[in-house]
Amino acid sequence: MQIYWTKINKIIDETPEVKTYLLDCPKDFTWEEGSHTHFALEGFNAGDKPNRGLIRHMSISTLPHENSIGITTRIREQCSEFKTVLRNLGVGDLRFLDRR
Ligand SMILES: Cc1cc2nc3c(=O)[nH]c(=O)nc-3n(C[C@H](O)[C@H](O)[C@H](O)COP(=O)(O)OP(=O)(O)OC[C@H]3O[C@@H](n4cnc5c(N)ncnc54)[C@H](O)[C@@H]3O)c2cc1C
Repeated sequence: MQIYWTKINKIIDETPEVKTYLLDCPKDFTWEEGSHTHFALEGFNAGDKPNRGLIRHMSISTLPHENSIGITTRIREQCSEFKTVLRNLGVGDLRFLDRR
């Protein structure tokens, strides 16, 4: 498993419930068009076992030459632990895991 920690550099409000998070692209992180990744929030590996409540599959919506990792998701008012934490993050805050 390869873990890359990175930060949110921009949040785009697509609609009131749908947001796109643009993440800084870590050095050596590469992907192909249409790839997905495991996306994890800070604290997912704080215990003995990974906290699955803080990890979700997400498709990468940007292209490799854009040099930014884009993740688009819907966050409803009543939402999971993962999306509750995500909703409260701002630019500079996010942590990210890839384990392809
Ligand atoms: C290959 C792949 C690619 C994917 N790409 C994307 C992507 O690009 N974007 C994307 O958004 N998703 C993507 N998914 C799905 C993603 O992994 C999540 O399953 C999805 O976003 C739902 O996450 P959640 O945390 O809302 O889900 P869950 O925890 O499964 O919750 C499902 C729904 O139940 C309700 N719910 C859950 N917990 C609570 C709670 N505590 N209180 C009230 N209601 C609750 C909410 O309405 C919630 O939306 C992908 C999945 C795969 C397998």
